[in-house]
Amino acid sequence: RFFVLEGLDGVGKSTQTQLVSEALRQRGVEVVETREPGGTPLGEALRDLIFGKYKIGARALALAMASARAQHCESVILPALERGAWVVCDRFSGSFLAYQGFGYGIDLDKLMLLDSFATDSLDPEMVFYIMETTNRAMRELSSSDRFEGQGQTFQSRVRDGFGQLALRSGWVCIDGDGEVFEIRDRILNVIDGHRSD
Ligand code: C5P
Repeated sequence: RFFVLEGLDGVGKSTQTQLVSEALRQRGVEVVETREPGGTPLGEALRDLIFGKYKIGARALALAMASARAQHCESVILPALERGAWVVCDRFSGSFLAYQGFGYGIDLDKLMLLDSFATDSLDPEMVFYIMETTNRAMRELSSSDRFEGQGQTFQSRVRDGFGQLALRSGWVCIDGDGEVFEIRDRILNVIDGHRSD
């Protein structure tokens, strides 16, 4: 089974990827815990390049992300699923559409085409969208007041994008308010209630 956790930076995706994977492992399931951008030596190298010293344009960034995803699917995710392991991935195609599409303004149809090429149409069984805590959203809102009249900020475009994608793609929205184990259990409850066939 293949699960993805999506959401804005700092909402706790990495922590939840780890906690959910550990809980599943304790039940005797083989779990591959992975992340994007990254997940393979090539993906991690691309991640270092993308966030490193080189200035990278939006289209080059999208292609690098897609390249990392192709390698990730082919060498990590697919082989894991084929041997019966479960995969829990921190970010996947959803982040691609939210950041490269809504954030950087690349046409969504083009990105979806590129994404299906990269993944060879491999889709997760479920995508969990971890929502921001109310406090954080309020804080962000008041700090973005400064940008009023200058158009939407990058972060707020990505936030809107995630919201639209969640609705349109039937993602499971997870309340990000509360203690980390509570949030983990919200995710586990949904996994337990969902038949994999
Ligand atoms: O989730 P993580 O912290 O590893 O992501 C690193 C950075 O990459 C984040 O700041 C996120 O905004 C950015 N990112 C991006 N496009 C993606 C995925 C992540 O710009 N498709």
